[in-house]
Amino acid sequence: MGIVEGKSIFSGIVLGTPFVERKKNLSVEVCTIEIERIPDEIERVLNAINSSKEDIKGLKDSLKNKVSESELQILTVHIMLLEDPQYLSDIKKCIKDKKINAEAVVQEVSNRYIEMFERIEDPIYKQRALDIKDISERVIKKLLDKESVNLELNDKILITEELFPSELLKLHYAGVRLKGIIMEYAGETSHIAILAKTLEIPTLMGGDNLLKLEWGEQIILDTTSVYGKAVINPTQIDIEEYKRKERSYFLKLKEIEEANLKEAITLDGESVNLFLNLGSRYDKEQLERKSPAGIGLLRTELIYMEAEDFPKEEFQKELYERIAMEVGKDKPILIRTLDIGADKKLPYCDMKIEENPSLGCRGIRFTLENLDIFKTQLKAILRASCDNNIKIMYPMVTTIDEILEAREIIELCKRELKNENKEFKNDIEIGMMVEVPSNVVLAEVFADYVDFFSVGTNDLTQYMLATDRYSSIGKKIYDCYDPSVFRAIYKVVKAGRKKGKKVSVCGEIAGEELGVIALLALGVRDLSMSPVYIPRVKNLIRKIKINELEQVKRDMFKAINPKEIKDILNSYLERIEGRNR
Ligand code: PEP
Ligand code: MG
Repeated sequence: MGIVEGKSIFSGIVLGTPFVERKKNLSVEVCTIEIERIPDEIERVLNAINSSKEDIKGLKDSLKNKVSESELQILTVHIMLLEDPQYLSDIKKCIKDKKINAEAVVQEVSNRYIEMFERIEDPIYKQRALDIKDISERVIKKLLDKESVNLELNDKILITEELFPSELLKLHYAGVRLKGIIMEYAGETSHIAILAKTLEIPTLMGGDNLLKLEWGEQIILDTTSVYGKAVINPTQIDIEEYKRKERSYFLKLKEIEEANLKEAITLDGESVNLFLNLGSRYDKEQLERKSPAGIGLLRTELIYMEAEDFPKEEFQKELYERIAMEVGKDKPILIRTLDIGADKKLPYCDMKIEENPSLGCRGIRFTLENLDIFKTQLKAILRASCDNNIKIMYPMVTTIDEILEAREIIELCKRELKNENKEFKNDIEIGMMVEVPSNVVLAEVFADYVDFFSVGTNDLTQYMLATDRYSSIGKKIYDCYDPSVFRAIYKVVKAGRKKGKKVSVCGEIAGEELGVIALLALGVRDLSMSPVYIPRVKNLIRKIKINELEQVKRDMFKAINPKEIKDILNSYLERIEGRNR
């Protein structure tokens, strides 16, 4: 028996047969070609690239409406890479210059890009390197005619060093259903992690030396807690324990499903408002089933990412109106203005290459520098809010001056709309994301200039702790449960209370069980999260007593690191789960 530990990516508990995949590097022979064959070779590689692109488009179409648009972005990025003029021209040039076969050229050119991206410390570029590895393998396999799917993987727990999104999609597409995935690669926010969640496959990431282990006949994969584990060759006692846990896990799932139909009210009668974080696309039926209090964060960058050019005012207006109508006329919709920069890029927008993109021109900094883009969006929002409870929210605000500058631009938009005889809402509410330490320090001052705050803990954590939110799991500093993050939130909550401004939280922790306990303890009553978390959070809230959380808060404030905070929250969670059994 042995235990492998790692970070749980998608929750579940399964007993199954391991399948260890030792990936062989694709063996590509280098062959010289005659000069007259060069055009044919170029045509061969372009055909392979086109056909790979068609495959990805096919996959994308088949997944539409099954997965969210942000998840489909993975495939859009791959299509964009395959269309990248520089990449294509490097490949053609290399065939002409070196007079070697297409497979070898794709490998050589791709390796150049991969090495270049891997040398950059920023994890976003490391993800880009993985994307190029993924697409180049796809093209090489096409050229070598080696595209088979390993059907043996069906119903197995896959153990691998790393897995590409396209490989997982291809398996899924071919009807191969993985029971679980255990991998060494540890990108918690990577494309493969998003996809594993989307396909609902219990997944453990960040396990050490997986390929050196003897995995035996059977393993238990348990990702029901934040830190999951795999038990190799479990004993009879382990299997009994697994069965017990599986039963209670399913009971919990059932309980959660039932809670979804009830109100989000604590045991001592306090209501909590659950809002949704939405992208451009959403499942209308799901929206109705989750019956949220409104949209706490509309990530409009996803609308821009999906478009082929900057979306026009009319298009945006109609889209925002439709969302408002589908969510429910009076429910608040917080439309976040375009938040690009750092990891979020638009294919049709040339952005400055910056040494430190997370600290560079992103969020409101970008829109203030690109007034046409900003004004188009603001006008669309102002118009769409005529008969709807729409509010504007700015991302990545750092200074009060930015708010003032944006205010002038809004006034300018209103004047222009008036001249254009277009109706708009004059007294629209304007709020800001709290994502930067300056917002916390100056919370009381910012509160005089905005109507509401929404704390974006994903970014706030990275800027509080001066560490990248996309760094790999290992011994990383990035942890939203750091005591400094909770103290920061508390400071904002108090400032909001003092100045009569609402404070909601829309970062990932607002959808996590421990996060919800902590946020309620700090006095937050408005939580915004991905639709998938709503039932679980509702179920949890119905077991909490607000009057017990004062002690939790006191204990949290004594904690000196994320582990101590999580232990405190976990012990409260266990206590309330226990009394409900
Ligand atoms: C955040 O930073 O917490 C947030 C919600 O914004 P995003 O994740 O889109 O950057
Ligand atoms: Mg953010």
